Amino acid sequence: MKRLLLAGAGHAHLDVIRNLASDPWPGVEVTLICPYPRQIYSGMIPGWIAGHYTLEQCAAPLAALVEKAGIHWIQDSICGMNAANAVPQGDFLRGAVNTQNAGKISYDVISIDTGARVESRALSNSGAPLLPIRPLEQFASSWKTIEAALIASGAARLAIIGGGAGWRRTGPGGRLRTTTTSAGRQSCCRTGQ
Ligand SMILES: Cc1cc2nc3c(=O)[nH]c(=O)nc-3n(C[C@H](O)[C@H](O)[C@H](O)COP(=O)(O)OP(=O)(O)OC[C@H]3O[C@@H](n4cnc5c(N)ncnc54)[C@H](O)[C@@H]3O)c2cc1C
Repeated sequence: MKRLLLAGAGHAHLDVIRNLASDPWPGVEVTLICPYPRQIYSGMIPGWIAGHYTLEQCAAPLAALVEKAGIHWIQDSICGMNAANAVPQGDFLRGAVNTQNAGKISYDVISIDTGARVESRALSNSGAPLLPIRPLEQFASSWKTIEAALIASGAARLAIIGGGAGWRRTGPGGRLRTTTTSAGRQSCCRTGQ
C-alpha cells in the first residue's frame, strides 16, 4: 500500500479529492493534512464582504468530501519538512512532514498545495494594525469586527495594500468607495450600499 499525502486543501487538491470519490485509486492510502474544517473559495470573498453571500455559501466543508473520497484527514498544520531526508524507494521518495499537533506524518508521495502567505513583516514596522488577506479563515474571522469598528468610528481610514483579484472586485464598483493617495495606496470609506 503506497501512501499519498495531500498537504493543504487548496483548489487543486479539492479537485483531486472530488475525483477520488468517483474514481478511487486501488492500493493507495490517501491522507489530507489541512488545519481548517472547510476551504473558503477566495473568488467569493469580495461577494461576502459586499454582503451578497454568507461565509457558509463561500466554503466547501471538508468532512463530507473526505468521507466520500475515503481519505484520512488530519486537521492540523504542517510546520516543517526536510526533503533532503527523504529516502528513494523505487519510483518514490519516502519522507515525512512535521505537524503542529499530530507529530510526524510519513508519505511515499507528497503533493503540496498549501497556497500563499502574505509577507507583512516590513509593514508591521509601521505599527499600524494589519489584517492580511491570508489565511482566509483568519481574515474572515477578523474582517466583520474591523468593519463594524470602522463604521462605528465614522471617519476611519482604511489603507488597502496591493491590488490583487479580490481588491479589484471589492473596491471600485464594489462596496468600498476609494480615493487614490500617493505611494500607490488606496484610502477608502464604505458607501453603505
Ligand atoms: C480575495 C481574493 C479573491 C480572489 N479571486 C480570484 C478569482 O476570482 N479568480 C482567480 O483565479 N483567483 C482569485 N484569487 C487568487 C486565488 O485565491 C489563488 O490563486 C488560489 O487560491 C491559489 O490556490 P492554492 O490551491 O494555491 O491555495 P489556497 O486556495 O490558498 O489553499 C491553500 C490550502 O492550504 C492549507 N494550508 C495552508 N497552510 C497550511 C499548512 N501549514 N499545513 C497544512 N495546510 C495548510 C489552507 O488551509 C488551504 O486549504 C483570489 C484571491 C483572493 C485573496
